[in-house]
Amino acid sequence: MIKFQILLVQHQLYKSGLSLNQINQSIAVSILIASLIAYLSYKVKFLTLSGSIATFILASLIFGLGGISWSVPILTFFILSSLLSKFRKRKNLGVENFFEKSGVRDHMQVLANGGLGGVLVILNAVYPDHLFYLLYLASLSGACADTWATEIGTWKKTPTYNILNGRKVEQGTSGGVSAVGTAGALLGGLAITISGIAWTDISYLQYAGLILFAGAAGSFIDSILGATIQNQNRCPKCEKITERTVHCGTRTDHFRGLRLINNDAVNFLSGLAGVILILFLNSFIKL
Ligand SMILES: [Zn+2]
Repeated sequence: MIKFQILLVQHQLYKSGLSLNQINQSIAVSILIASLIAYLSYKVKFLTLSGSIATFILASLIFGLGGISWSVPILTFFILSSLLSKFRKRKNLGVENFFEKSGVRDHMQVLANGGLGGVLVILNAVYPDHLFYLLYLASLSGACADTWATEIGTWKKTPTYNILNGRKVEQGTSGGVSAVGTAGALLGGLAITISGIAWTDISYLQYAGLILFAGAAGSFIDSILGATIQNQNRCPKCEKITERTVHCGTRTDHFRGLRLINNDAVNFLSGLAGVILILFLNSFIKL
């Protein structure tokens, strides 16, 4: 896997006319920065061990093949989201009762949010096309909007409603939306839009419209899937609805949704939706 990555990066840099020496330096720098980020994130408990290994592989691919224009957006997403998560934990830990996983992200969470980006950076290396960069930002915008909707929306207690039927639900329930959470989603999309704006080659207005729209659409679809097909369990002791398989020390019962569709699957599908949306728009207005 690592060897394949190095070959791929070498191939890409060779095409850009760098000398072998410069290529090797560039690969070494990418791997060094990626391992530093993975190590520090593990140390400060942003990531589990498996999460930091996945981050190392994904980050060296994106840094090595994408260079600065691809690195800044994913670092913006990763660093700001991790800080928000730490901050929210201090303010409102209780809401984590609903979440399948705690704020320390594992490899499945890393891949659900960044896996598409890894595929897109490889595609762009093999068939260079500026559309891949827009798709990459669209997938990150969706991922960042979802993440921030949850992190900012659960900072403090706030009324939360089911997105489909408008009934009041407990905060942290999948498919629940609130005013603060919606503001968080828009901010998340905005952060990614700003992070990539220096490298766009379409008009700023068109660019900002697309990436913000992809973020909003991603978090909207995330909530719809959360309210419909996402797996939900019920704790037999306290009767609370949760994504966890164990609650109050006992196994939870299946309540609704599809067992296979956990929060990671929903995040992945929402990012994919943003990508499909941009591809769809591209077939009408050539981006
Ligand atoms: Zn319970």
